[in-house]
Amino acid sequence: MSSHIVYLVLGTNLGNRYKNLSKARSEIDELPQTRISKKSKIFKSSAYGPIEQPFFFNLALEVETKLSPLLLLDYLQKVEKKLKREKNSHMKPRTIDIDIVFFDDLKIDKPKLTIPHYDWQNRDFFIKPLLEINCDQVKKAFSEINTEISQNLKSL
Ligand code: AMP
Repeated sequence: MSSHIVYLVLGTNLGNRYKNLSKARSEIDELPQTRISKKSKIFKSSAYGPIEQPFFFNLALEVETKLSPLLLLDYLQKVEKKLKREKNSHMKPRTIDIDIVFFDDLKIDKPKLTIPHYDWQNRDFFIKPLLEINCDQVKKAFSEINTEISQNLKSL
């Protein structure tokens, strides 16, 4: 079975942010049939969403895995739990948040999992680290937007 290429973005805004990212990275690298192939540097970002909260550190990982998308999500949620992310912490401070942004070029729309991540295009803190590790899907989306803009400008 061949490996899938997956892009993850990790975020943390509670406790020791460096330690949280580093622990989460080692846990992910140790998941079965999974290894990290690229990692971005750490980016600082302001909290996003309706609730005021402390700043985040984010980083992106390129991961090679033989796991299915749902099994990978299960494992990542176990990593979040292990790092003591509280339940119901959606849009609130959290030790670690792990989002699957792309999984090969798959499109999934299930209650538990949406891929590509539903909001990736609006999140600078996804785009910047993903571009740093040369994520094809982000580069492709931007090149399509640029082509469309230059065509629109030509037709003015
Ligand atoms: P959040 O609190 O924003 O991290 O949302 C966590 C919930 O989003 C979990 O219950 C997941 O099942 C669900 N979810 C849907 N799509 C994704 C995705 N692409 N990556 C991670 N979690 C996802």
